[in-house]
Amino acid sequence: MEMNVNDSFKPVSRPAAWYALRRTLPLWSFEENLRELIDYLPRYGVDELIVKVDTEEFSHGQVPLKWLEAYVPHLHRIREEMNKLGIVYSLNPWITFGHADRGRDGSAVIPGLQTCVGHDGAECTCCACPLCPQWRDHTARLWTLYAQTKPHVLWVEDDIRTFNHAPVLLGCFCPKHLQHFGRLVNAEVSREELVKAIYRPGEPHPWRKAFLDMQGRIMVDVVAQLARTVHKTSPATCMGLMSSGPRTHCMEGRRWNEFATALADGQPLYSRPPMGNYNEDSPRGFYYSHDSIKLTRHCLPKGAIDQTEVESWPFTLYSKSIKFTFVEMAISFAFGSAGLTMNLFDHAGTPMEMEPQMGQMLGRVKPYLNALAGRSQLPGTYRGVRMLYDSRESYFKRMIPNAWYEDLAADGHGMMCALESHGIPTTYDESAVTCATGQTIRALDDSAIRQLLSGGKGLFLDGMAAAVLAERGFSDLIGLKQIDPPRSMDLWPDKPFSAEEFFNPDFGGADKMFLTLTLPSLGVHRVAARLRPRDEAQIVSKIVDPDGRRHDVFSYAYENQLGGRVFVHALDMKASYGISYHHPFRATQLHHAVNWLARGEAPFLVRGDGVYPLAFRKDCQEGVLLGLFNLSLDPWPAVEFSVGDVRPIGQFERLTPQGEWIHDPAIKITTGKTGAVTVQVNQAIPFEQPLFLWGKWQA
Ligand SMILES: [Zn+2]
Repeated sequence: MEMNVNDSFKPVSRPAAWYALRRTLPLWSFEENLRELIDYLPRYGVDELIVKVDTEEFSHGQVPLKWLEAYVPHLHRIREEMNKLGIVYSLNPWITFGHADRGRDGSAVIPGLQTCVGHDGAECTCCACPLCPQWRDHTARLWTLYAQTKPHVLWVEDDIRTFNHAPVLLGCFCPKHLQHFGRLVNAEVSREELVKAIYRPGEPHPWRKAFLDMQGRIMVDVVAQLARTVHKTSPATCMGLMSSGPRTHCMEGRRWNEFATALADGQPLYSRPPMGNYNEDSPRGFYYSHDSIKLTRHCLPKGAIDQTEVESWPFTLYSKSIKFTFVEMAISFAFGSAGLTMNLFDHAGTPMEMEPQMGQMLGRVKPYLNALAGRSQLPGTYRGVRMLYDSRESYFKRMIPNAWYEDLAADGHGMMCALESHGIPTTYDESAVTCATGQTIRALDDSAIRQLLSGGKGLFLDGMAAAVLAERGFSDLIGLKQIDPPRSMDLWPDKPFSAEEFFNPDFGGADKMFLTLTLPSLGVHRVAARLRPRDEAQIVSKIVDPDGRRHDVFSYAYENQLGGRVFVHALDMKASYGISYHHPFRATQLHHAVNWLARGEAPFLVRGDGVYPLAFRKDCQEGVLLGLFNLSLDPWPAVEFSVGDVRPIGQFERLTPQGEWIHDPAIKITTGKTGAVTVQVNQAIPFEQPLFLWGKWQA
């Protein structure tokens, strides 16, 4: 009798901090690896085993059908053993198209295979073109076999994209694609002509939209076929999607809603947002991770279940320490994820217990993460400055001469890091204050822009976004007489520059408060717009020459005739954001700017004698969750949160390292005149011990 896999595998109660482990069991060590999983997964607190198939170093490239047929009985065996332990069985084939050639010849497995061809003419030997009928047929056979093992979730890897198929950077521009495209535009088009049109400087060529639309449609078709294939054999299996970050997917014109709906095919959709940080370079990498969770969730239909990708590559403590891994897990849950998918052990058959510390940590921190996730997963809204994002930015961006394929990706990462790292959390949900940076705002129509500039709203603009709005005819509403679009300041002919003097006391500045213009780092050109604001604007900072004499305006604040507020900073943040942007004066400048835009009710600001905060506020029905990760290695001695536009809060509870929420009388709460609340915590916050507070709304 066929059992419904979702019913038979559903654990009695799903822990909030759901652990899914991704693991490969190669043929030569199968029994040993399976034995270890049976013995150790319960100790590690693992709830779900995601079996990876034909993985990494030992991948055959395109998976041979015969090889998989021989492996399927092993999958059944794993599933049965996991079932005995109450551990859910899921499956993660390592490829669809293929991640990278790595010297494999795909046509040896799939005769007649059309491989992927890049915008520069590079040709894959193994990674497939999504239009290739032989690949589609072969893949349908493979995925039918996968589905026969009745996984709870069948994960699709992030190679289901049209970029990063080494050696191809961006594709596909193969003869099949060009033929398809030619039919759409009624012309015979060569790869060179098409690529030239896509990257034409200035006003986008209509072929760019046509190509992105076409790619988007093809990918929806591919995932629809995958899901239908799986559901024909295992209707209860859910599909899972690993993605590569919505800013990057802009390059290929991903249509998130259609894509996700087609892949889900009527079942709940699982989502694995990337967390980056595959090696431990710097804790600051976590700005990317938390943003990836929020932005991917924003792009997917409501109800998608996210389990973040916590991965240490290449899978030993040399890549990533226990502390770093733990903080990444905590970030996943703090930002509301439903679980983790952990890729922490290699795919060559090496025992997990070669480095016992990792598994011990997983088991040890589970109660703590459960307590955190129990609150962070409550329905609610992450509050902060809204970062503008539009998945169609690539349709509207203006390219510069000699644009590179990544120039089609969405802007905004630098600005998001700039705000977060100075204690100003960001969100993709509604907010009174929006931040538009780079060319994102081109994707909005005039009425949407006017909305952002109207009464009660605040808009933060970098030099590029201000230049775009001026070009679109909004100079008056953003307080500009004139603007020269951003270019390298080294090429400004008339005035030498030394620093930005942040002198306006109404915005926290003072005479001789200097911020370096050696941006974004030594030896790289800073890029900024030349601003000539209207007379009514409040000038916040100016450039000074080597004698300290002020010349060009560098930032200003302006309230327009619609009652909307605008703060403009001249830097082009995509080019100029980097290490030397950061400064305690910068934090002061940005806090004042955001608070002014929010009319004294900034949703959340973080202050303290420390740097690189990663903080959040989540408003739920029952209360508010506040948190602080310290992404520097020096502990913050104490922290002060400013919480604006907020209901009255009763007492705060703090999460202890043992995983208990306790009332902490040492937390001081002061309510200001406007209703904004200040929360002071006099307790050291080291990197490895984030701070979480829960405040119940007053009845
Ligand atoms: Zn192709």
